[in-house]
Amino acid sequence: MFEVILKKGKEKAVLQRHPWVFSGAIERVKGSPANGDIVKLLNAKGDFMAYGFFNDQSRVALRLLEWDENVIVNDMWFREKVGAAVKSRADILADGNTNTCRLIFSESDYLPGLIVDKYNNHLAVQILTSGIENVMPVIIDELNNLLKPESIFDKSDASSREHEGLQTTNVALTLNSPPENVEVKENGIIYNINIAEGQKSGFYCDQRDNRKIVASYAKGKKVLDCFSYTGGFTLNSLHNGASSVTSVDSSALAIETLRENIKLNNLDAAKHIAIQSDVNKQLRAFREQEEKFDIIVLDPPKYAPSRSALDRASRAYKDLNRLAMLLLNDGGLLATYSCSGAMNMETFKQVLAWAALDAGKQVQFIYQFCQPEDHPVRASFPEGEYLKGLLCRVIG
Ligand code: SAH
Repeated sequence: MFEVILKKGKEKAVLQRHPWVFSGAIERVKGSPANGDIVKLLNAKGDFMAYGFFNDQSRVALRLLEWDENVIVNDMWFREKVGAAVKSRADILADGNTNTCRLIFSESDYLPGLIVDKYNNHLAVQILTSGIENVMPVIIDELNNLLKPESIFDKSDASSREHEGLQTTNVALTLNSPPENVEVKENGIIYNINIAEGQKSGFYCDQRDNRKIVASYAKGKKVLDCFSYTGGFTLNSLHNGASSVTSVDSSALAIETLRENIKLNNLDAAKHIAIQSDVNKQLRAFREQEEKFDIIVLDPPKYAPSRSALDRASRAYKDLNRLAMLLLNDGGLLATYSCSGAMNMETFKQVLAWAALDAGKQVQFIYQFCQPEDHPVRASFPEGEYLKGLLCRVIG
């Protein structure tokens, strides 16, 4: 096995079991490992520190897997990690009302660069590191053993693959391809998913708990669901007795699927309005029309892809939230999210405080949302935390 020597003074994060070693922390590579090979990391004195995936094309040159020198990282090791991750999702799927969730969440499940989502009996995988790419035959075999899925589809069309020097793909890894439409169930609500064409991996299962919480306030209320996608918050709110729900998304496919989802769930289409539009434009149009709502959901895409984009993103979040606050009836609720890892909860609260000030409103934070248990945050890997939200009561 090839060896990589860490620079003196760079041991702390490795000892704290952070799984990333940046290229700048590496003193020297002995020999010439190929990208994706498992290598041994040594400190400057030559003592063992960890085993990890090597990639000299990535800023994260090593992705650490195992800190015990006596544990060999072989096929069995990967099978065990897959098994443990799948087992830990059993509670989510237990009552039969939910058959979609994230089964494997990359570093947080000790498999850096592997994402596996379950959609009923189909799986979608994203392979984001060359190390995981190398062990995919074993991982696919173990997923087949454990779950016997009807199909496994590779959705690795993420730009992060380019950082690892990997091609983008979008193909079935099993003999069967998934059908064009797969019906999934989340908390008893049915969704039509197009695994091959849908955004990300077809469905945003990270909002499962939050949809339910927001919907618990929706009875008899006039709801506006911004960035609705295929209707996660919309369907839950209608199901819980909202008097009306307006959904806004810029994607025609999302809006079309949302309309189908309303029918699939036997919900009252007369209580629903779908608008295909840019949310920022639509919020301004509502203001001109003097339209008001009792509950507004803001679930925008990631505005800050990196820390350097945070200032600009903060201004965009502030503006969006300010516009929404102006459309709420006195005492109305704003459920607002950020899925930017670079934006932490403290900064997000600050952004909302600015938005409230600019809108001339008082805001009380009444609930803090986070990501659900199938998107765990590993204590030694805070970067795994990305989804946060606030339920705000907006007064004035
Ligand atoms: N709330 C959704 C997930 C939202 S994902 C759910 O519960 O499933 C973000 C969505 O924002 C995507 O559907 C995307 O099409 C949409 N989007 C991105 N930019 C937009 C914009 N400027 N205006 C309207 N929709 C936008």
